[in-house]
Amino acid sequence: MKGFAMLRIGEVGWIEKEKPVAGPYDAIVRPLAVAPCTSDIHTVFEGAIGERHNMILGHEAVGEVVEVGSEVKDFKPGDRVVVPAITPDWRSIEVQEGYHQHSEGMLAGWKFSNVKDGVFGEYFHVNDADMNLALLPDEISLEKAAMIPDMMTTGFHGAELADIKIGSTVAVIGIGPVGLMGVAGAELCGAGRIIAVGSRPNCVEVAKSYGATDIVNYRNGDIVTQIIDLTNGKGVDSTIIAGGNPDVMESAVRMTKPGGTIANINYFGEGKILPIPRSDWGCGMAHKNIRGGLCPGGRLRMERLINIVKYNRVDPGKLVTHVYHGFENMEKALLLMKDKPKDLIKPVVILD
Ligand code: NDP
Ligand code: ZN
Repeated sequence: MKGFAMLRIGEVGWIEKEKPVAGPYDAIVRPLAVAPCTSDIHTVFEGAIGERHNMILGHEAVGEVVEVGSEVKDFKPGDRVVVPAITPDWRSIEVQEGYHQHSEGMLAGWKFSNVKDGVFGEYFHVNDADMNLALLPDEISLEKAAMIPDMMTTGFHGAELADIKIGSTVAVIGIGPVGLMGVAGAELCGAGRIIAVGSRPNCVEVAKSYGATDIVNYRNGDIVTQIIDLTNGKGVDSTIIAGGNPDVMESAVRMTKPGGTIANINYFGEGKILPIPRSDWGCGMAHKNIRGGLCPGGRLRMERLINIVKYNRVDPGKLVTHVYHGFENMEKALLLMKDKPKDLIKPVVILD
């Protein structure tokens, strides 16, 4: 079969591979819609997680089951499914500790386009199908559904990690597709005021539609000064980081109140150290909590996100600005995520 792959750091291209084989608990899925991610860009062009040779890229897919193993109970060939970006080993000890993202090792619940071939192939392999797949209801379009496996779960996780109280003030740094879902997640969690940081006009419009009450443009000067001014010198209760370089960590600590929470969902692709400003972190004693996490995966998470879309609580379709048809557009779609043209939020490739 064909797949669009990371050949080595800095280089992508088409390769031929054997069609994957399902173990007793696994499924083989044919993608119906896939989306490239900024994370693929960090992995390929920044070498953020180290060298990978001839690894098929992609971790955001909805698809059709074509084969299941002998022990799979709830799925059969022909089922249309949402496939989470994170497909943990559910029998691991880390799951009992409450961190399925790190089953069998740090970040190891993230398998597609990290430790095994991803979803940009004619077929892909899903471990533990009963625990990792979710049925896609007919009424949800493929474009919208393709935002569930990663964009929704990651942005919402930012809100979950940010410990948002009803009525509290939240800053969301970065309003690409992930940060926009952070805004929508903060709204769902009951934030009173949501200050969104970005610059592209289409992202700003979508941020407002998801619940942003204030917009800060980082190109107009220091975001900490702007946010401290907006909050009468107090700062925010929670900050979600969903964009920017490592320096945003320093800004986030400075703009967050004592007792507040900084929730990072960025994938920092470069640099050795993330800066924490000593005095703004109360010389270590400010009770400013710093958290960061890989998005949740698995079947239950996907089913809950499907509910959010099915019952019109959030429309992730607003993220999709570019729709392509056919595998041959994979490279074009991926490079859009690298070049980030002004009108882009997120591309989807439909495989008719
Ligand atoms: P985008 O590049 O589309 O968006 C980044 C956002 O950050 C934009 O709004 C951009 O503004 C803004 N930004 C850029 N520089 C600065 C700055 N110096 N200060 C403040 N804001 C800035 O990225 P995505 O939304 O696709 O992804 C965001 C991050 O999430 C990536 O690192 C990605 O790899 C990561 N990720 C993490 C996952 C996880 O599980 N934790 C899963 C999926 C993705 P503008 O465009 O206006 O210039
Ligand atoms: Zn992704």
